[in-house]
Amino acid sequence: MPADVGAIQVKDLNTTHFQFQQAADHLGLSEELRALLLTPYRELTVQIPVKLDDGRLVVFNGYRIQHNGARGPYKGGLRYHPEVDHDEVLSLASLMTWKTALVGIPMGGAKGGVSCNPRNMSVSEIQRLTRAFVSKIHLVIGPYRDIPAPDVNTNPQIMAWIMDEYGKLHGFNPGVVTGKPVSLGGSLGRNEATGRGVALVTAAYGKRKGPKVQDARVVIQGFGNVGSHAAVILEEMGAKIVAVGDIEANIFNPNGFDAKKLAAYALQNRSLKGFPDGEEIDPATLLELECEYLIPAALGGVITKFNADKIRAKVIVEAANSPTTTNADLVLEDRGITVIPDILANAGGVTVSYFEWAQNIQQYKWDLNRVNTELENILIAAFDKVLDCAEKEKSTLRVAAYLLAIQEVSEALTLRGVL
Ligand code: GLU
Repeated sequence: MPADVGAIQVKDLNTTHFQFQQAADHLGLSEELRALLLTPYRELTVQIPVKLDDGRLVVFNGYRIQHNGARGPYKGGLRYHPEVDHDEVLSLASLMTWKTALVGIPMGGAKGGVSCNPRNMSVSEIQRLTRAFVSKIHLVIGPYRDIPAPDVNTNPQIMAWIMDEYGKLHGFNPGVVTGKPVSLGGSLGRNEATGRGVALVTAAYGKRKGPKVQDARVVIQGFGNVGSHAAVILEEMGAKIVAVGDIEANIFNPNGFDAKKLAAYALQNRSLKGFPDGEEIDPATLLELECEYLIPAALGGVITKFNADKIRAKVIVEAANSPTTTNADLVLEDRGITVIPDILANAGGVTVSYFEWAQNIQQYKWDLNRVNTELENILIAAFDKVLDCAEKEKSTLRVAAYLLAIQEVSEALTLRGVL
C-alpha cells in the first residue's frame, strides 16, 4: 500500500491473516482489497473498573472490534478469558466476517472480550463486570449496528444482563444481543446450535467423502457448550464418543461413552473430573488418539507444528475458532488429513443467533422444528458449496471456504461503491 500518503501497512501474519492471504493469492485479489479486508472498521478498547466482593477495586481491559460490516450489522461473540487481548479479538472478529458471509446470513463480523479470569470470580462480580462493560461500549452496539453473543466463558445469563443494561440506556430492545435465555427473547435451539452444526457438518462430510459417522470413533477436546452438545448429537447419529477432555480431565473409553451421561455429569460438576467408565489420559495423548473424527472444541492454537505429525485422526472438525495453526495446517495437508474449517464447522451458533435476531425484530417466535430445519438447510448448502469449490479448485476446504466468503464480501463492498 502507498506508504507516501501514510496508508496502513498490513504486516504481522498471524494464523487468520495467513489463511486470508492464502485464499487471496488464489483469487488474485488486489492489494487495495487486501488492505480493506485485513484492517478492521473500528476498534474500541475500554477500561472496566469493577468492585470485587471483598471491596477491592480492579480494572479490566475490554475490547469490541468491528471487522467488516459490508453485508449487514456487525455480529460476533464476547469472550471472557485471561488470554483475551487486542490481537486475539481482531483475529476472531475477522473470522466472524468470513463465517457470516460463507453461510450467507446478512451480517458482518465483530468480536469482543474482556481479559479476566471468570473461574475465580463470583456471579455478582461477573454481573458487575458485564454491566460496566456494556456502559462503555453501548454507543457502538445496537440491533442494527453490532450484536454481541456468547463465546468462551459467556452464557445466556450474561447476555440477559447485556440486554438489560443496554435497555436502561436505549429502551427495551432484545435484538441488541443474541444467545439470551429463551424466556427473555432467546431462540429455541440457540444453546445447542453450535454443537448441532458441528454434528451436521461432520455427518455431511462423512456422507459425501467418508468415513460415515455411524460407528465412527470421535474424540472431542473441550466439553463446554459446544463440545457436549456435539457429542450428544453425534452419538444420536450413531457415532462412538471414545475420548473427551476439558481443562481438568481427559478420559478415554474405547467402547464409547454414554454422551448424555457425560454431558449431564459435566454440567453438574462443571468438569469431567471423576467421571467413571473411562481411563484418565493426559491432554496431549487425547489429541493424538487414533480416531475417524477429532473435534477441537475449546480454545485456539491447540494443533500446532509440535503435534500435527502425531495426529491420527482422519478428519479434524474445527468446532473451536482457530484451533489449528498455519504450520500445523500445512503438515496436516501433507499428511492427507482433512480439516473442516472453523468458519464452516462452527457456523451453527451464529446462524441461530441470526434466527434469534430475526425473531426479536419481528416479535414472532419460531418453534424448535423450524429453527433446526432452517439451520440444517443453511449449513448443508454452505457445506456443499465449500466441498464443490474445493474439488473444482483442487484446494483445501479452508481455502475454498475463504474463497467463497471473500467473494461475497468483495461483491458487497463493490455494490456499495466502496471499491
Ligand atoms: N461466538 C460464536 C462464534 O464464534 C457465536 C457468535 C454469534 O452468535 O454471534 O461463532
